[in-house]
Amino acid sequence: MSSVIPNRPRIAVIGTGYLGTTQAVCLAALGFAVTAMDVDQDKISSLRSGLLPFYEPGLPELLQETLRTGRLQFSTEFERSADADVIFLCVGTPQSADSSAADLHFLDAAIAEIAPHLAHKCLVVGKSTVPIGTANRLRTLLQSAAPAGPLVELAWNPEFLREGHAIADTLRPDRLVFGVTSEWSLRVLRGCFAQPIAAGTPVIATDLATAELVKAAANSFLATKISYINAMAEVCEATGADVNLLAEALSYDSRIGGGFLKPGLGFGGGCLPKDIRAFAHRAAELGVGHAVVFLREVDAINQRRRQRTVDLITEMACGDLQEVKIAVLGAAFKPDSDDIRDAPALDVARMLHQAGARVTVYDPRAMPNARKSYPELSYAPTLASAVAGAEVVALLTEWEVFRQADPAVLGALVERRNIVDGRHALDAAAYQAAGWDYRALGTPAGPPARLLEPVMPEPARLSQPVVPEPALASAIEPV
Ligand code: NAD
Repeated sequence: MSSVIPNRPRIAVIGTGYLGTTQAVCLAALGFAVTAMDVDQDKISSLRSGLLPFYEPGLPELLQETLRTGRLQFSTEFERSADADVIFLCVGTPQSADSSAADLHFLDAAIAEIAPHLAHKCLVVGKSTVPIGTANRLRTLLQSAAPAGPLVELAWNPEFLREGHAIADTLRPDRLVFGVTSEWSLRVLRGCFAQPIAAGTPVIATDLATAELVKAAANSFLATKISYINAMAEVCEATGADVNLLAEALSYDSRIGGGFLKPGLGFGGGCLPKDIRAFAHRAAELGVGHAVVFLREVDAINQRRRQRTVDLITEMACGDLQEVKIAVLGAAFKPDSDDIRDAPALDVARMLHQAGARVTVYDPRAMPNARKSYPELSYAPTLASAVAGAEVVALLTEWEVFRQADPAVLGALVERRNIVDGRHALDAAAYQAAGWDYRALGTPAGPPARLLEPVMPEPARLSQPVVPEPALASAIEPV
């Protein structure tokens, strides 16, 4: 890895959580000199010594590599922002404690920390997810508090990375959205992301409000797609139809596509749930709440999947969860992450525990976080010890290790071969062949509903005319 490339802007990153650390490490890997700052002394000490305080595949190695080059530094001293040409704001914007609005006090504090040190022309770039109008407000705050005044510009560059794929999503994003107020800001941002842009990443240069809205709209669309297929799962449950085959059939329609059309326990994490709520809240403040009123239902459908999973597990336990031993596989809100913010798996585990079940949780990465937030639950050190003696096994986060588990081997460990596949991640037929009672949300109990494999037309038949022959045509005429 080369050292700092001359004439490149010096970069500061404020906030070293999932987003900020990834951003700092990736920019250092691209050749920039980066100083990343946080108010959390423990986090900064850990990062400084090359230890990532969260799990993200590939990031520990890249962190250590970039630290060795000397291009990446970590600090709790915000006066270090004085040396930077570009300052990325990556602090959290969680849901407020008392409403569905976004809590912006971390952003306001970050502006207050850096502004007094900004005595030369520089660009502050917000990456956190924020309600529309935030950037404009922060711009005024910043320019009035910074010694350099209006020489300090503000831009918004919303982030779309997915935990578990954070490096690839940062170094080669699907698109870059730059909300700017000047040609100069746009040029500086283009310089920071020159490599992904040269590799073909499209750039959308726009105003601040549109940039903020792109992020809210993207997350709302993704959440809606998930809740749409889960709403269909509810209908399937009432009719005996199979949501997996329904989703597959829909996915072949190129206007719909298969992405985010996976039925199951629904979404969670530190982004989608709070982002759709904050968006609905902000839209109402702006007098257009009616335009996104559907987001309330998207949220409600998502929450209902959690209760439905508990109901399905209760059915398997013959209607009574008291003292029933349940193995919960998964705690993180998604695989390849240790993030348990609003994790559906842990919410379900908590509900089962409250209903009197004896719940044992196992997750390959998220156990330390889960233990801290849910001390009332029991945890097992391995998959095998989690399922040992279980009367119901519930797969709630689709880690690869759970997909790969042998149903016969697991079957030998449990008390009863009952499994609820909350993520449609397992091979239902293989579990049934191994003697398991396999249940999943939105699919009927018993053998899978696929009766025939899809049949591709033979080449000879493909060359036949599409227009029916006269005899056949009359046979299919409406009577
Ligand atoms: P996080 O909670 O992991 O990290 C936030 C960090 O900011 C913490 O380390 C915290 O100590 C620090 N912080 C708080 N106040 C500070 C201050 N005044 N000065 C300096 N540091 C401060 O959150 P995250 O997941 O990294 O998310 C950050 C933002 O990025 C949020 O707006 C989120 O919605 C958005 N986002 C996150 C992801 C993701 O996958 N995590 C993806 C896209 C967008």
